[in-house]
Amino acid sequence: MITVRPNLLRIDGMFLGFGQTDDFWSQVSRTGNADDCWIWQGERSRSGHGCFRPQYRTGPGRRLWAHRIAYMLSTGQQLGKGLCVRHTCGLACCCNPFHLIAGTPAQNRADYRRHKALEEALSESDRQTIKRCNVSVGTLVRRFGITPGIVWSIRYGKPGARHANLKQAA
Ligand SMILES: [Zn+2]
Repeated sequence: MITVRPNLLRIDGMFLGFGQTDDFWSQVSRTGNADDCWIWQGERSRSGHGCFRPQYRTGPGRRLWAHRIAYMLSTGQQLGKGLCVRHTCGLACCCNPFHLIAGTPAQNRADYRRHKALEEALSESDRQTIKRCNVSVGTLVRRFGITPGIVWSIRYGKPGARHANLKQAA
């Protein structure tokens, strides 16, 4: 499913080894389906983004954005300066690498507006269908022209912040 690269990885200034990457993935609820959002179970910022704090023998490291780690671990690529990791699914706490692409902050803002418009275009009856029907996320995405994150939010509610001190970064 995910290939964790064997060497020590440097991500946003922190080195992550096996212990840290195992700990990272243990906090992501993964499914075998590429359409599903993989929800970050740990701390979240006010914006809803996951925050991961690597633990070392010497103590805890500083907090990193979970979606950026998921992107870099699964692609093996470092992000260029000024680039952010965008959620094609529209769910900030999602760590499914299939839903993550690199882009500019302007593209990220455009994504947000587009996802919001898609969600607002749904009727109440559409929302009830999405909430109650027993079909896959992918089927709903295709049928309603929405994103996996919209399906998730309608079914389970918007994930709230669990840690409010982080500034919105990437
Ligand atoms: Zn997602």
